[in-house]
Amino acid sequence: MCKPIIIPEAVMKEAPRLPGQAVDDILDALSSPEKSMISVKGRISKVYLPTNKNDVMLKDISGKIKVAVWDKMVGTLDKGHLVELSKCRVKLFQAEKKLTTTSATTAVLFTSEDPQFDVSEVELNEDEPHQSMVDMPSGTIEAIFDVDPYLSCPKASCNNTKLTTVQEDADEVLKMLCKSCKGIFRGGASNSYMRATVLLVTGSEQKKVTLFSPQIKKLFESRGLDSKIEWDKMKMITKFMDVIPIEIKYSLRNNTVSKLVCKRICQ
Ligand SMILES: [Zn+2]
Repeated sequence: MCKPIIIPEAVMKEAPRLPGQAVDDILDALSSPEKSMISVKGRISKVYLPTNKNDVMLKDISGKIKVAVWDKMVGTLDKGHLVELSKCRVKLFQAEKKLTTTSATTAVLFTSEDPQFDVSEVELNEDEPHQSMVDMPSGTIEAIFDVDPYLSCPKASCNNTKLTTVQEDADEVLKMLCKSCKGIFRGGASNSYMRATVLLVTGSEQKKVTLFSPQIKKLFESRGLDSKIEWDKMKMITKFMDVIPIEIKYSLRNNTVSKLVCKRICQ
């Protein structure tokens, strides 16, 4: 078995956007200069009739972009697929940004659900008007109930499934099991992830809702604070106390915040 490559957090911070390597939001793709090489992940909301190429519409919470898919990838992508396309080229076509796959592009399909990329059936239908951020309901996060920092599966297809401890070796190396892919990982090879339960107050009601790392990160970053996960729960809760109350625009799926926008405060 080959070892996973682990990039130290400090290096990731220094180089968050290695071209064609880090996965960009679709909004980033739309604002990237022509000819940039980027990788994107999103849900396919529309498939145009294939010819020698295949146009698909790719969507994430930040926006949507048309991707021209070439060669062996033609006909392999379907409406509803959650896919990561690496090393796509940004093209300008009739004053609109588009992506095209390159010979280096790989397509990775994801089977598990991730609220980050959840687009409802209504949203998947391109004939329906697209709900913009302006239409998202607002509310205020006023209290924090609990935080749960944990190690999650490093495989992208597992969408940060929480790992459970299986054994400790004689040399005291922590081993963790992913119940989704059945993989066993060393603690150091896992991702750090977090869940938080908060009180969301809207005009008409108060709800207990769950946030995961991508949304939690947005809360802290909107206040110019670092979003590093503290393993000491009390420390993490104290960090939350520095940002709440905080006004957000949000979308909920069950009781999980699947989309979140914060007001950015000027420094
Ligand atoms: Zn896994």
